[in-house]
Amino acid sequence: MHQTTIAKRVQCTGIGLHSGKTVKLTMRPASEDTGIIFHVATPAGKKTIRPSPDIVIATGLATTLGKDGVSVSTVEHLLATLRGLCIDNLHIEVEGGEVPILDGSAAPFATLLSESGICEQRSARRVCRITRAVRFGGEDKYISAEPYNGFSIDYTIVFPHPAIGTQRKKLELTPFNFSRIAKARTFGFLQDVTMLQSRGLALGGSLDNAVVLDALGVMNMEGLRCSDEFVRHKILDFIGDMAMLPLPLQGRFTVFCSGHSLNNEFLRHIMTMRDSCLKTITLRGKYDAPFRRPQEPPLRETRIPALAG
Ligand SMILES: [Zn+2]
Repeated sequence: MHQTTIAKRVQCTGIGLHSGKTVKLTMRPASEDTGIIFHVATPAGKKTIRPSPDIVIATGLATTLGKDGVSVSTVEHLLATLRGLCIDNLHIEVEGGEVPILDGSAAPFATLLSESGICEQRSARRVCRITRAVRFGGEDKYISAEPYNGFSIDYTIVFPHPAIGTQRKKLELTPFNFSRIAKARTFGFLQDVTMLQSRGLALGGSLDNAVVLDALGVMNMEGLRCSDEFVRHKILDFIGDMAMLPLPLQGRFTVFCSGHSLNNEFLRHIMTMRDSCLKTITLRGKYDAPFRRPQEPPLRETRIPALAG
């Protein structure tokens, strides 16, 4: 299994969740072993930021990375898409301090990157695998992880709201299975949205980029994209939060009522014990591949009829 990047430069513009202003995102191919790098436009020129658990400086509204006075926000759905589509190397240029929220899901990023094309590079892919069972958190919310050749997740959420309740979903992360969760939008409660916007936060948040719930149910005219859209989005967020590690994380995860904050604490926790619970693996040969490619239909031979005479 080889490393990958995208075939050509792609870009999009959209609303910034924090600022409510138009922000611009450009993604460029990167050479092998580059990893994922953000290039953030600042008045002093472009500054680079590499995702890392210890530079997650905010998780309340969206995940923000910050280092040396430079920050980039709302990175989680894009990073989840890169892990979902198995893209290892990419330059991401951001103008406006945040990644556009688009429709609040990962689907527009998946479409944009797929349209660019994903190409294999020469070097073998490397991953970071959990090597022993780890449990983090309390009884009311926790993450447990165990060794696994791939990324599998069993996620449960419990919200005392008639539209949500208890939802549970299992997912084996492959590029194909990622499409099952990519369309799930972020969600929030009306009283929280009103409070945030009264404080000048979430100025770009609207029914165009989030599922908003009031006491009775879903306020969006179009309703939900699927009945368990909430837990699907939580899985998406979890994948994005685990993408703060420099290499794709492998393990079997059982997650109960976690969110961005606990996800980040979990990563910081396993990083403090990385010598005893994480191992870098180079994926060689087809049996090490973290996913099986969807079976492509066999090529049909086109027969050219013999010319008469
Ligand atoms: Zn999210």
